Formats: sequence, C-alpha cells, structure tokens
Amino acid sequence: MIIAANLKTNFTRKQTTEYIDELESYISKNNTTQDVLVFPATSSLNPHEGKVIVGAQNAYATNNGAFTGEIGLDHLNEFGIKTILIGHSERRHVLGESQQQLVKKFNFYKELGFKIVYCVGEPLEKREAGKGEMMNYISAQYEGIDTSYENLIIAYEPVWAIGTGLTPTLEDIQTIHTDLKEKSTAPLLYGGSVKVTNAKEVLALNNVDGILVGSAALNAQHFCSMIQFAEDIQ
Ligand code: PEP
Repeated sequence: MIIAANLKTNFTRKQTTEYIDELESYISKNNTTQDVLVFPATSSLNPHEGKVIVGAQNAYATNNGAFTGEIGLDHLNEFGIKTILIGHSERRHVLGESQQQLVKKFNFYKELGFKIVYCVGEPLEKREAGKGEMMNYISAQYEGIDTSYENLIIAYEPVWAIGTGLTPTLEDIQTIHTDLKEKSTAPLLYGGSVKVTNAKEVLALNNVDGILVGSAALNAQHFCSMIQFAEDIQ
C-alpha cells in the first residue's frame, strides 16, 4: 500500500530531516514493506537516501525561468526529487490553479517520468447536489490527464474533508473508490481527515490502495502507526 504524508506549510528543513529520519528508523526496525511518501514544504527539501520517497508539493512546468515564487525542474534535480503532488485541493481552491494549468504541469512531469500523485475531489456543495453532479465534477478533474500513465497515483480527497475532521462514511469512500477505479486502474488513495483512529478502517476498504494524510501525519508516531496498519492488513 501507499502511505503518504503531505506536510503542507509545516516543519522547517531541520524538523523535516528529523521527521524523515524517525520514519526511516521505524521502517527499518519493523521491516515494513509499504511505499512511504513524504511531501515536505519546498524550502525543506533535501537530498535523501532511504526507503522513504520524498516528493515535491508543487513545482512549475518549467526547467527554470521567470516565474516568481515558483521552482522548476532544475531545483528538484538538485535534491534528486522525482515525485510530485499535482491538483491538491489547496492549490486548486486556495491558490486558484485551473484544470488547464494542472494538465500542463502533469504533462511536463509525466514526460520526465516523475511519479505523480494527482488529487481529485469535490467541494461540499457538489456533494450535496447529488451523486450525478458530484461525479460530473470529479470527472472534469480527470480531463486532459493520462489515466493510464504508469507512474500515476490518484488521491481521492473530498475538499470538505480536508483538515476539517469530517470524513465520508466508510461505505461512501468504498462506493466512490469503486466508481473512480473505472476511470483509472492507477493506485487510488483516500485523503481527508485520516487519523490514527480511523486509518485502519479506511485502509481495509476495497479499492483503497493507501492514504494521503495531512495534519495527522505531522505526528511521526501516529504516521508510523498508520504505516503499520497497512502492513498488518497486507
Ligand atoms: C491533505 O492535505 O492532503 C489532507 C488529506 O489533509 P488532512 O489529512 O489534514 O485532512
């Protein structure tokens, strides 16, 4: 399974290094075989060798150039980063990235063979508008995306569940994941208020291939417990 931590705008470089070291030591002590991904803040990226795969939360579709505030491939290469998160709801809804921009970014990093964790998910009003409207909204987020890309991982993250403590029911997660698996056979993660107290049940669902965890991943011990749940289930 894939257990991923989105550290968002948290942890300095020093804290991130300590965090990743703690995960590495848990993984080697317990011989866990899960794929563990960590997405630190951009300024906390560092070269890393080990079992944990370190990815970027964002980068522009460019090698370098005049894109103030952004980083490009040259900067990722400096740290040996080959994994990127694209389409996170905070980038779509807070920072206003359009589907067109995301597709451009996706294609750029796909051409380079990056592992891409591509996020989809509906805001509350779309969920409340009924299943048809909700699925149409999510389907639009697949437009322009090569769903058969071999290094693709999809994360279903309902916007209203991110950082709110709210989650869909387990039955809902399973139903939506089953529907989304028809769009792509790529590994499908669930994200949105996953915590140490609900991760086991989520990971046990059919068509859930892992989890993408935000706030709760900041506690390294809790995150290690989630890695262990996945190991025990497998
Ligand atoms: C996320 O940011 O991808 C996320 C799932 O956040 P949280 O776990 O805090 O809801």
